[in-house]
Amino acid sequence: MTDAECLCATDALSDQLDLYANLLVRKGVALREGQELVLQAPIERADFARRVVAAAYRAGAGHVTVIWADDAVTRLTYENCPLEHFEHTPSWQVEQLNSLAEEGAAFLFLEGQDPGALRGIDPAKPAAAARARNTECRSFRDGMDFGRNAWCIAGVPVVAWAREVFPGLSDAEALYRLWALILQVSRADGEDPESAWETHNASFEKTKRFLNQHRFDALRYEASNGTDLTIGLPEGHVWDGGAGRTQDGVTFFPNIPTEEVFTSPDRLRADGIVHAALPLVHAGQTVRDFWLRFEGGQVVDYGAAQGKEVLRHIIETDEGSRRLGECALVSKNTPIRQSETLFYDTLYDENASCHLALGMGFPECVADGTSLSKDELLARGVNQSSAHVDFMIGTDDLNVYGIAADGTETPVFADGQWAWE
Ligand code: ZN
Repeated sequence: MTDAECLCATDALSDQLDLYANLLVRKGVALREGQELVLQAPIERADFARRVVAAAYRAGAGHVTVIWADDAVTRLTYENCPLEHFEHTPSWQVEQLNSLAEEGAAFLFLEGQDPGALRGIDPAKPAAAARARNTECRSFRDGMDFGRNAWCIAGVPVVAWAREVFPGLSDAEALYRLWALILQVSRADGEDPESAWETHNASFEKTKRFLNQHRFDALRYEASNGTDLTIGLPEGHVWDGGAGRTQDGVTFFPNIPTEEVFTSPDRLRADGIVHAALPLVHAGQTVRDFWLRFEGGQVVDYGAAQGKEVLRHIIETDEGSRRLGECALVSKNTPIRQSETLFYDTLYDENASCHLALGMGFPECVADGTSLSKDELLARGVNQSSAHVDFMIGTDDLNVYGIAADGTETPVFADGQWAWE
């Protein structure tokens, strides 16, 4: 495509982008009349952020607060400010996020990041910043973890990211192609994305029912890359997927897209080795060809062909970050996997592949979990941490077996897809 053709094609997406903006506001965070919306967006996509602000006011927003993100300024900050600077969140920012959360705002995070934005930066700095934000902005973090605030993460393209996904194309064509792909895999490329999401949401019921009725005691993973891992599941665990629900009954979608059915494993039971199926882009750096060995739920050894330091900072974030908080099952028969595109972005790549997460577990994944204290959740097996980092383990030949309390095994996944597919 010539640049002129690309601009034309991007212009032609205009109506579709408004439908996407409506989807994020009306289904993603399910904005209510008079409610505050907090929108975080990359400044390079200000054009789309403005569409979202307009969509929010059309939907009756009381007020919209926009928080701009800029990879270049973020990089300059990490290059020039010492580590100590990142060990605390500025008090004005703590106040901003906590007060917005306490007043009941909905949070919409538009992700669009250069996967190499922080290449060469000491990973201790972004790790410290994330830990500070997650521990000091308590109301903000708990509001999302415990279902008090609706929130949604969705994607928008930026040029540096589009170049990684579509190497060899012109910037204009890569950007257009990434926009079109984001709309497609987000089920926002048709005439009525909102009803497409109603239909999609209903499709999670069968797999959730299967897993919740079996009440497996553990899952065993095996693949030809050497993965051989058994993960315990807590008594009373609940498999979730599709829409989330706030404590006051608002149905929202934490991730657009989402293809996963997930639960929180028992933080004390994971044994064996797991090899990553895809690279992990974390805090602007890439970890490749890595593995983790678990004993008694804890990471006891790990390695990576690239980015081992980044992995070390994730694992050593705090007491809980060396244990698992999530196990998610994703069939290889999903639009993202079938696009055969590596996105270098966890929001998309985790929805192409079975994955695990180190760190924080999900209170809603044990019966009555959102009304339990942190100590009660720990006692039930749900991990607690200021980190939550997903990594992909779903190869095309992954088998997963559900193990019942009496030791009998039931195939759950065969060759990377649901055993009955
Ligand atoms: Zn997940």
